[in-house]
Amino acid sequence: MALVNENFLKLPGNYLFSDIAKKVNAFKVTHPKDKVINLGIGDVTRPLPKAACDAMHRAVDEMSKAETFRGYGPEQGYPFLTDAIIKHDYASRGISLEPNEIFINDGAKSDTGNIGDMLRHDNSVGVTDPIYPVYIDSNVMAGRAGVLENGKWSNIVYIPCTAENDFTPELPSRRIDILYLCFPNNPTGTTLTKDALKMWVNYALTNDVLILYDAAYERYIRDPDIPHSIYEIRGAKKVAIEFRSFSKTAGFTGIRCGYTVVPKELNEFTLTDAKVPLNQLWNRRQCTKFNGTSYIAQRGAEAVFTPEGAVQVQEQIDYYMTNAQILKNGLLSCGLNVFGGDNAPYIWMQTPNRTKSWKLFDRLLYETAIVGTPGVGFGPSGEGYFRFTAFGNRENTEEAVYRLKKWF
Ligand SMILES: *Cc1c(COP(=O)(O)O)cnc(C)c1O
Repeated sequence: MALVNENFLKLPGNYLFSDIAKKVNAFKVTHPKDKVINLGIGDVTRPLPKAACDAMHRAVDEMSKAETFRGYGPEQGYPFLTDAIIKHDYASRGISLEPNEIFINDGAKSDTGNIGDMLRHDNSVGVTDPIYPVYIDSNVMAGRAGVLENGKWSNIVYIPCTAENDFTPELPSRRIDILYLCFPNNPTGTTLTKDALKMWVNYALTNDVLILYDAAYERYIRDPDIPHSIYEIRGAKKVAIEFRSFSKTAGFTGIRCGYTVVPKELNEFTLTDAKVPLNQLWNRRQCTKFNGTSYIAQRGAEAVFTPEGAVQVQEQIDYYMTNAQILKNGLLSCGLNVFGGDNAPYIWMQTPNRTKSWKLFDRLLYETAIVGTPGVGFGPSGEGYFRFTAFGNRENTEEAVYRLKKWF
């Protein structure tokens, strides 16, 4: 008899987005004439940049001939892509990384979820709250989260990011071993200043905390003073792993390609205080459990860094960020408290009169046929907030603003 990992049974029944999909489907069945506008799920809608498409076509052609066919590639990714990443994403910002500090993957969700393979089950975990649900749920599966009490896991330290503290997380009073940070943030769309990030890196250096830094939205940063990488902060290579993705950057949500940076200077410890370089552990983990990202996807990702690719990606980002401004200005003109949207494709709105997030969700769905995401779905501090995404098309975004203005 096989016994199951009972930690899975601790997870609350449904995934946020499947609950939303059920409600939306019920609405569509009962209101077939209403045009539903989805500003809920965080998926891109613009087609792939042409440079990436052309590169992937060429890669398919190579695969079709015996002389240029490729089978398994390096588990860590092809050097053509790691070299392009080092040059364009890091060296250009004064950060030096070596090729074997970069691990190409099939997207940031996989690695943010799998990274815990390297870490003991009894570390305590800190998250900013609200947050991308993968961080907590993957720790629940690993038995690291404790028990769920009043919407919070007993071994997770929730660090609130709300309008009250200007969405800037404050140092926790409880000890943590592992800290997840995501900036620009999903769901709040807010960022950290260099000084705020410096405070966290210094805290991690002083207290031996491992920072897991999710920078999936770094391309959306417009303010020149906001750090794109945690390694812009001195000492960060000793304490932080960084995750990035081509998904939101270049429309790769369906292609699948991202990468994880595990610096060689980063060590953690055994119970007997022996130092262990995480780069070696992660390499071992990947070689055992991962057989590399598709060659075709990696050629597509490489093309994102060509001069044409860079221009096309910038056009996509500008398109979404124009949507963000349209949404944000529309909501502000209704007198609502609205955050984010300046350096991220998410708009985070305080619900009017502190209505519960799910209640606002139902009302917006039934009274305006607009779908957003209830803030509480991202954690307890998200109650009383609502998320809109800028990933829709322009016409729908404008139509949504028109409907919302009438409604509010
Ligand atoms: C979308 C997203 C990712 C990227 O996911 P992929 O697996 O690369 O598509 C990572 N982190 C956050 C916070 C996200 O919103």
